[in-house]
Formats: sequence, structure tokens, C-alpha cells
Amino acid sequence: MDYLEGLNPSQRAAVEQLKGPVMIVAGAGSGKTRVITYRVAHLIRNGVDPFSILVLTFTNKAAKEMRERITSVVGDAARNIWMGTFHSVFARILRVEAQHLGYPSNFTIYDTDDSKSLIRTILKEMQLDDKLYNANFVYNRISSAKNNLISAAEYQKNEQIQAEDNSTGRSFLGQIYQTYTQRCFKAGAMDFDDLLFKTNVLLKNHPEILYKYQNKFKYLMLDEYQDTNFSQYLIVKKLAAIHENLCVVGDDAQSIYAFRGANIQNILNFEKDYPDVKVYKLEQNYRSTKNIVNIANSIIAKNKNQLKKDVFSNNETGDKIKIIRAFSDNEEGKIVAENIVQKRSISGSKYKEFAILYRTNAQSRAMEEALRKLGVPYKIYGGTSFYQRKEIKDLIAYFRLTFNPNDEEALKRVINYPRRGIGNTSVERIMIAANQQNIGLWDVIKEAPTYLDNRTASAVAPFSTLIQSFQAIASDHNAFDTAMHIAQHSGLLRDLYEDKSVEGLSRYENIQELLNGIKEFSEREDIEEKGLDVFMQDIALLTNEDNDKDPNADTVSLMTIHSSKGLEFPYVHIVGLEENLFPSQRSLNSRSDLEEERRLFYVALTRAEKNVYISYATSRYQWGTLNNCEPSRFIDELDPQYLDLDFKPRMESSGPASSFANERAGWQQNQSDQHGDTYFKPKPKIKQKTTSILPKAHVPSENFSPSDTSKLQVGMEVEHERFGFGKVVNVEGKAPDMKATIFFKELGQKQLLLKFAKLRII
Ligand code: ATP
Ligand code: MG
Repeated sequence: MDYLEGLNPSQRAAVEQLKGPVMIVAGAGSGKTRVITYRVAHLIRNGVDPFSILVLTFTNKAAKEMRERITSVVGDAARNIWMGTFHSVFARILRVEAQHLGYPSNFTIYDTDDSKSLIRTILKEMQLDDKLYNANFVYNRISSAKNNLISAAEYQKNEQIQAEDNSTGRSFLGQIYQTYTQRCFKAGAMDFDDLLFKTNVLLKNHPEILYKYQNKFKYLMLDEYQDTNFSQYLIVKKLAAIHENLCVVGDDAQSIYAFRGANIQNILNFEKDYPDVKVYKLEQNYRSTKNIVNIANSIIAKNKNQLKKDVFSNNETGDKIKIIRAFSDNEEGKIVAENIVQKRSISGSKYKEFAILYRTNAQSRAMEEALRKLGVPYKIYGGTSFYQRKEIKDLIAYFRLTFNPNDEEALKRVINYPRRGIGNTSVERIMIAANQQNIGLWDVIKEAPTYLDNRTASAVAPFSTLIQSFQAIASDHNAFDTAMHIAQHSGLLRDLYEDKSVEGLSRYENIQELLNGIKEFSEREDIEEKGLDVFMQDIALLTNEDNDKDPNADTVSLMTIHSSKGLEFPYVHIVGLEENLFPSQRSLNSRSDLEEERRLFYVALTRAEKNVYISYATSRYQWGTLNNCEPSRFIDELDPQYLDLDFKPRMESSGPASSFANERAGWQQNQSDQHGDTYFKPKPKIKQKTTSILPKAHVPSENFSPSDTSKLQVGMEVEHERFGFGKVVNVEGKAPDMKATIFFKELGQKQLLLKFAKLRII
């Protein structure tokens, strides 16, 4: 039992407790995920059938890593463990049981775009104001109802909900929800939330099916339990009801999905649900230095709502946490990128040891630009998934239609792409006929002469024949042959091939990449069913990371803090620590929202093993305007004894501001690099001179006091509290949103929002 030696006594006790309900509530980096991994290995070593183990993880990637680790202990048997995210595991089960819900087993999974597009169609049909009933808003409202297991019928009956909707003037939400549900059903489609909602319906309405899975999954394990929502909680509770071999691990301090309905009450209730639960505490953090653990503790201590824990580290004390101030978001990016280059060369580390974490996806732009300028290879996690690209979605829409012609979102997507003379008017005619007859769009198309006028009918006839020919091919060909046939005969491949622009070329290559993936799938020897329908099953659930061809590439990782959960990196930059950004503006109204932001900050800090750099900018472009920013209150909350406030990232100057020639070289390098492990190679262009990259701070004149800026005019000379002396080159807008462009002697041109700017007119 060599592997057990890699555990401390409490971890080991939790691993060896194979039966009954087990809960581990422990701080970040204390080995919770490690306990789950070893526990699965230990179960199998003790003769438990891997098919009877169900492990639910936060990402597919986490599941994959766990499986690899378990394989190293128990060998090939690990292949048979049921392991993955809630969505992927229950999608798989729903396919088997679909007929009990009246769904076809090859039901489509609508992604967020499909759902919102359907919502827009419904709004249009109901002639509702799409500002009041904004599609995002409606989607979130339906999503939250589903995650609380409130069906459309219950939604409409619930007086409290109705009162709430009426008070905001959105009394049609219930009806939209109802229509949305009916349309999904008719289209043979489930959205993301349905995968959990329908699983609950299945387990509730079909006791025999519940019984079957209760006996199948004799051992259940859940990572990141603090972030499960009610729908997920109930599935697990039901499945575990007979054997009660349920092990959950979590950290209330890392609960960051309350906005999606995750409920930390789950942790608190576990002891009530399972009175004979064995609770284990893990307090030693193995991941981070003492300074990092201490500073993270100092932050989370400010939250009132938390379970008491004493997390400590026996690792070295390590460096203090460094605070970096920048003048703008672009400058912040520059400092971060330069710091990474410098730190890497001093410590001899790899790019993949660095992560840049931000509160919102929009912040990645400035970071990317700066990294690219220095030729630093990077990878963005959770960005637009490969499967979300337009050309990929188009081809997949043909695949979806082939297996499920009732899939109306797919149908609308490609009925006239590539163009085949079925314009908007024809599509509207089809939709009207379908609504009148209360049948699906496909039913109308298939029987076009019955339901449509001659012209429209003859326009859609070839399309109908085309899809039916795809169905015939799919029935007796493997995934690759079917996919290739569809790509060619739909006209999509030709359409992309004929587009000779750079974007067109890259779209064509993406299609090739998808087809290559399908070919690989068709050649796999470990699966029997190799039809395109099998390949398609989970495609809507895949993310960027799942398509990562080279997960070990040496690249800096960029991601939101939300997607960094559970991960670890030696060096972590947390950027954009500014009021209204982090904590976000929306969180400022309530204590509980603010506490959630603080937990998010705790998650960010605890990703780091050796160094944390926290940065903020004093001005930032947001929604197209330049705003002055204040440092985040979270910086003030950090215990100063662990901080290095004077940190000035210094590096060997990269010479005059990078010329275009350098950028072009980097670009060409990027283009010619086919292997993907280095997207942007670093340029070895470093001079000897060492200068600080932070502009010298301006010391305001003795008589400095901000003037009334409403009188500001072009040509005036001014002094700014921090940026120094300058001249006004442009004034625009009206008070209070008046902006001025000023050319500062030291810093060059800047645009300032005058209501925040501390300026003196000279
Ligand atoms: P998080 O809360 O961030 O999800 P966690 O509690 O799941 O963290 P792990 O990721 O399991 O923690 O472990 C953190 C790090 O500490 C990992 O690198 C892990 O390999 C290491 N580790 C955990 N326990 C031990 C141990 N007993 N001996 C040595 N290393 C350990
Ligand atoms: Mg973990």
C-alpha cells in the first residue's frame, strides 16, 4: 500500500474510511482532491468494482487528471470508473433512459447560444419588448428556476414568483418559460440545466430507474461540494440513499457560485442529512508558502459567514506578497508580462509555472497584448471554445440535424447556409405553417407541398432531400466517412475553401481540425460504436481545455478566478484589484455578495505555491470609456506584515518601445509554428541597461489644489496630482461626463474623465 504513504494521518484516515457518509471540510491546498483520488484507488485495491464508483468533479480536465493518477496506482481498471462533471455524467445516463422522458436517445444538447436564440424567437413571436425581456435575463431566470427544480407549470402557479415578476413589469416570464420548455421538447433538445433538471424528474417519477442507479453506484464521491446547487445536491442525495457510501469534500471559504444557485448550506446540512457522518478536518496546506497561507487567512477572516478552520503551512516562509501599481490597464499588462520574463530568467522556471488570474474575461486583452509584445507564449482558459466557433457550429448543426431533424436551432442555422435560396421570408412561412398546424419545422419541410406555397415548397425540397441523404449515409458509415460526406455535400467545405481571406483560411483549417478529430475517433480501438452520433454525444459540453492538443505545452495560463478553482501554479499574478472591478460593482450592495467576492479573492491567493503578485491600475478603459480607478478595498484588508509594498519590478530594458518589426517577427514565428507548444516564441532581444519600468512618481507642487475643471479648454496648461505637467489637447462631452485629452510631459497623451481627475489649471 505504498501510495498510502503519501498521506498525512487525517488524510489517510479519510481514505481508509471506505464505507458510510464521509465529509471533509478543509482549507485550500490541504489535499482534499488528493484524498478523493487516493480513496478511489484504495476502493479498487480493496476489491470494489470500478463500474460501481461515481466521482463528480468540477471540470472534465480535473476528471482526466484524477483518472491518470488512479491508473498509476491500480492500472487499467481505472478506465471503468464513472467520472466527470455532473453534466457529462448525467447526459450519458439520460441518453440511456431518454425514452422514459419521451425524448429520443440522440437528443440534442442546446448550448447557451442555442437557448438564447430560441428565447429570442419566442420573444419575437409574443411581440414582447426585447429590452425589458432581455434574452440574457430571461435565460438566467429560467436557469435559476430549473436549478431550484421549479418547472414552468410551478413557476406560473407560484404566487411569490408571480408577484416578483409583476413588480418588475415582466409578467410574461412564466409563459415564456412554458413555451421555451415545449419548444425544447418538440425539438428533442435539452439545455444545460435540463441535464440536471430532467435527471431529477427521471429519478423522481421512475422509482425503478432510481433503484437501478442506486444499486449501480455503490460508492459516490464529490469534489468541490461547496459549489453544488440544489438540483445537483438532490441527485446525489437520491443516488446515495440506499448504501450511503457518499464522500464529499469541500471548503466553505471557496464557495464562489452562489450566483448560479450553489448553496453552501449543503455543507452545513450534511450532518443533518447523515447523522452518522464521519467528519475529517485537514488543516495543513501543502501547496503554498507560509506567507501565502497567512495572507489568505487574513483575508477570509474578514468574512462573518464561515466555518472556523486553522489552515497552516509547514513549507518555507517564502517571499512577501508583492503589490504592483500601474497607471493604466495597458501598463499593468506590460509590467506583468515583463515581470514574468524576468522572474523566469532569474529562477530558471518555465512559462507554465505562471498564471495570470482576473475577475472578468475582458481583462485578458491588455494581458495578451503585452505578452505577445514580449513574445511570451500563453494560453487562455475558458475563452471561446473551439466548438463555439461559427464554422464549427455550422458543420455540427448539419450533424445534429442528421441525427435529430427536429432540432430547430440547428435547422435555422443551416437551412440557408450555404445559400440555397431559402431566404428569411421562406423561413418565416415555414414557421407560420408549423405554428398553425402545431407541428415542427421539419414536419413542414418534409411534407412541403402539403403545407407551403409552390415556390417555397420547391425551394425547400432539395434541402429536405439533402438531410435525408445524410441520414442514409450515417446509418451505415463510421463517424469520419459520414462527417466528410456531410462537409462536402452540404457545400460548406466548398464555401469556406473559396473564401481566400486570412479568416477564411483559418476557418477552413478549423474544419479540417474537427474532421481530423473525428478521424481519430473512428480509428480508436477501445470503443465499439464509432458512429458520428456517438462522437456527437458530449460535444456541446466540451470546453476549450478538452480540445487542448498539448496540455503540457510551456505556456503562461490566463483565466478567470472562477475557472482557476482547484488548480495550482508556482507563480500567480492577480490583476485588476480595483474597486468596482474586484470587488465587482454589482457586489457592493449586499454583505453576502461582497463576502462572495472576498471568497473569490481567497481562491485566487491560494492558487499560488511560491509567489503572489497583486496589481491594480489607476485608470482603465471599461465599456469604451477611460475611468479613474481606486485600489480595491481587498488590498487594504491584507495584513501588511506579509506585504511588500515597495516592490518595483525591474527588468533589463527591451529597448525603445517595441517596433513593428519585432511584432511581425513574432507573428511570423507564430504562423510557422505548427506544433503548438510554443505559440509565440520569446525574442532574445535584451539590452544590458537596467531601468525601472514604473514611471517616476510626480510630486505635486506645494500649492497644488484641484481646480474647477468645467472651465477647462484646449491649450490650457495643467498640473495633474500624479501625472505631472501637461497641456490640454482636446475636451469633449458634457459635465458630469466631460473628458479631456492631455499631453503630459513625462507620460505622453492620456484621456481623463474630469469628474475624477485631480487637476490644477496653471
Ligand atoms: P483546493 O482547495 O485548492 O481544491 P485541495 O484541498 O484539493 O485544494 P490538493 O489539490 O489535493 O488540495 O493538494 C494541494 C497540493 O498539495 C497538491 O500539489 C498535492 O499533491 C499536495 N499534497 C496534498 N497532500 C499532501 C501530502 N500529504 N504530502 C505531500 N503533498 C501533498
Ligand atoms: Mg481540490
